Amino acid sequence: MSPIHVSRRPSLLLKIAIGFFLGIIFGFIVAPIIPGSVVLKDYVMPTIDLIGKIFLRLLMMLIVPLVSSSLVAGTASVGDIRKLGRIGVKTVALYLITTAIAIFIGLACGNLFRPGIGMNITDELTATAKEGKSIADVILDIFPSNPIASLGNSNMLQIIVFSLFFGIACIMAGERGKRLSNLFEDISEVMYKIVHMVMAFAPYGVFALIATTAAKFGIVILAPFVKVIAAVYVGCIIHAILIYSLMVVVFCRRSPFWYFRGIREAAITAFVTRSSSGSLPVTLSNVRDNFGVSESVSSFVLPLGATINMDGTALYQGVCALFVAQAFGIPLTMNMQLGIVATATLASVGTAGVPGAGLIMLTMVLTSVGLPIEGIALVAGIDVVLDSARTCLNVVGDTAVCAVVAASEGETLTDLKFSA
Ligand code: ASP
Repeated sequence: MSPIHVSRRPSLLLKIAIGFFLGIIFGFIVAPIIPGSVVLKDYVMPTIDLIGKIFLRLLMMLIVPLVSSSLVAGTASVGDIRKLGRIGVKTVALYLITTAIAIFIGLACGNLFRPGIGMNITDELTATAKEGKSIADVILDIFPSNPIASLGNSNMLQIIVFSLFFGIACIMAGERGKRLSNLFEDISEVMYKIVHMVMAFAPYGVFALIATTAAKFGIVILAPFVKVIAAVYVGCIIHAILIYSLMVVVFCRRSPFWYFRGIREAAITAFVTRSSSGSLPVTLSNVRDNFGVSESVSSFVLPLGATINMDGTALYQGVCALFVAQAFGIPLTMNMQLGIVATATLASVGTAGVPGAGLIMLTMVLTSVGLPIEGIALVAGIDVVLDSARTCLNVVGDTAVCAVVAASEGETLTDLKFSA
């Protein structure tokens, strides 16, 4: 894949960062005056909202063709089924281990911050929550009955499963398979050209998304839930700094500074889009351009990660389960907390990489340990704020595993190619 033009990278990143901060400032400043201003309410904010939605659509538009083409090309380009199996086992193992650690950190933060203590919520809470899926449904849902329908519905797990079969079959089919996988490689190269075009629009999209969110919720909504927000944010930061830095230092022999610098765009995109899948084009571009990870590893590890690896979501589910238990005055035994680790790991695997999906999957975690699903209503109001942090950690976690798998396959990780 051709890198985004080196000379434009620092200014693009800078523009995205400026868009981000201006969006926050703008949103918080205008939030209180929107109701009294017709111009803001009827013209300015809807226009900004539209710009943000267009940016999201452009990212979403890329997901299905990009994931399917690059996953088939990436799988086939490994060329050797044994090597593919090795990369697959390493990737899934790292994803599951880091996810379980994330939940422990979430539970620790929930125990430390004790966000629900003193809320004393009883049955008068009437809000209804959507039913989560059962564990059996989550497992069954991985397998497509009609891959074309899976493409049409953007069902990422099913697309991944079919693309893996397809890529493996390309290896097995010899010369004919090679011709076909070359075609997929060409398609994914063309898709990357579109990624570059969309990224040129990113600073405006980022501004619009963050401004809309900040204006909609304002600072005030955060007040009663500061502790939950703090627990999730602190947990995410601890997980990123401790676990990912450690992985990069130990397995890649690189400094955390090198690592975090290389994935800034992906992290910001995840934070504002609240979608791992939507951030995938940027994530792929970052690890390839900035770390020099090969196409075969990145095309395999990252789409899989954007779909099944959700450390942030798992951590958030740990914090929220404790929060709900504390708010309803239900004591959580050690066994129940271990149950949370097991179900939250599975729930995070089954969580789609789209905004708000983690909240729905939280119902599965709560029900499995006997907590009231009405608790969902408690966190729903601030879910947007929590979603940004958890999606950011989800995406950052994918890049850490990707770098480690690449290093373990003997790839030389490059120095950053830009000097921002
Ligand atoms: N928004 C998250 C993601 O895309 C999923 C979630 O809601 O937890 O990674």
